[in-house]
Amino acid sequence: MFSVKDWVDTRKWQNWAGNVKGNPMQSLLPHDTKQLSNIIWNTQKQHKTIRVTGAAHSFSPIAKPDDIAISLHNIRGLIDINTETGEATFWGGTYLYEIGPILAQFGFALANMGDIQEQTLAGAIATGTHGTGVTLGSLSNQVVMWGFVDGLGNYHEHTRGDDDLSNALHLSLGLLGVLVKVTIKTVPLYSLKCQSMHYSFHSAIKVWDKMIREHRHVEWFYFPGVEQIQVKIMDQIPIVKQSIKSRTVEEFKNNVIENGLLYIVSEVCRRKPNATKWVSQLAAKSIPTGVIKGLSYEIFPSPRKVKFLEMEYAIPLEKFHECMEEIYFTLKSHPFKVHFPIECRTTCGEKGFLSPTQTKESAFIAFHMYKGMSEKNYFRWVQTLMSKYNGRPHWGKMNQLTKEQILEIYPKYSLFQQMRKKYDPENIFVTEYFKKLID
Ligand SMILES: Cc1cc2nc3c(=O)[nH]c(=O)nc-3n(C[C@H](O)[C@H](O)[C@H](O)COP(=O)(O)OP(=O)(O)OC[C@H]3O[C@@H](n4cnc5c(N)ncnc54)[C@H](O)[C@@H]3O)c2cc1C
Repeated sequence: MFSVKDWVDTRKWQNWAGNVKGNPMQSLLPHDTKQLSNIIWNTQKQHKTIRVTGAAHSFSPIAKPDDIAISLHNIRGLIDINTETGEATFWGGTYLYEIGPILAQFGFALANMGDIQEQTLAGAIATGTHGTGVTLGSLSNQVVMWGFVDGLGNYHEHTRGDDDLSNALHLSLGLLGVLVKVTIKTVPLYSLKCQSMHYSFHSAIKVWDKMIREHRHVEWFYFPGVEQIQVKIMDQIPIVKQSIKSRTVEEFKNNVIENGLLYIVSEVCRRKPNATKWVSQLAAKSIPTGVIKGLSYEIFPSPRKVKFLEMEYAIPLEKFHECMEEIYFTLKSHPFKVHFPIECRTTCGEKGFLSPTQTKESAFIAFHMYKGMSEKNYFRWVQTLMSKYNGRPHWGKMNQLTKEQILEIYPKYSLFQQMRKKYDPENIFVTEYFKKLID
């Protein structure tokens, strides 16, 4: 897991996957909003840039600091919860794994979560981190109030409405300011039953439409070139905590099978890339099936210990069938040396200017490559394929977006830019990576 201590001591910065590295001049850990404002004020005077890093779990260089790196590791925890409305205000540096147990004490939970919980709340919101469920949105969609320090060091609080600032803050990549406080609309505490099953590709595709409407969460893992798909379905059940026995069994499956075995076969593939064909078959068959039950925050996340690179795109939901058929037929002959699965999820449409869903119900399709194996050909194919289906990349995942493409696929980008210029007139949040994407 990302260690803030190491990062501050060495001043060397790298993301979780290790594919992005930085060498900031200073790494700072403010303790409160006042200190943060002072840092921003001073940085602006010195014409330097600032990047806030959450848990550094983004694959793209969006969190890479050039001059000054800031972490909100010391600005964490619950500030306030309104038990009548379920609105909970947290400090931006709070890790997602801290949120579930805190909310549960008050009888509340996050409406949805992704498949890990190591990210910070602000970092996850800044990129539109999502889980799965066609009626549910990303973490950004759960925000009702943003508290942020802008590029001049001024603190603002903004309540969500149908206005340009709300649509810009919805997914802001840290370009409008540093999110210090966030109020989230939570839901009453709930439990989930998670069923993991094997389907053939064709039987799964036949029932996809029905399945995503009938179940709260549906997720697929499709191993390249394999006939079989792992289908994960999660539905709400009366409150039950995960039993110690179930947790122990799950930990064994996660550590030994999903991570241990995966690491061993991945190392085989790295040394002998031709092995990816049979390893995909083996991995698809070895994925455990079964049922687990527990509180939502116990069931959503799984440990991801084997490092990989990832691209993920949102495509309009109605194009999912056609796109998956094309993926299936292309990968049948195993043209790429890849054994990590393709992950398919859904979300509702969101209005944020930079939301990859652009208001439409979407399917998110994620492509992974074991770290240390060449991803170039595979990811080049993914990029071409996804443009064909009007895909928009997840901002936190690898992509080759250019400014021209952004203007084409985000019709409201200029409105985002107006807000960005208003709140960061001196461009102190515009690092080298963003210079290419911004006016
Ligand atoms: C193993 C793994 C699994 C993942 N699973 C999922 C998943 O299920 N669903 C999904 O959608 N994504 C997933 N991701 C991607 C991840 O959720 C996003 O990249 C997320 O942004 C990472 O959060 P972070 O705290 O690490 O932020 P970072 O990666 O550190 O930063 C992300 C962005 O947020 C900005 N930022 C950070 N803190 C602040 C702040 N306080 N104020 C303003 N801006 C800030 C950064 O400057 C940067 O632009 C996964 C990534 C990994 C490595």
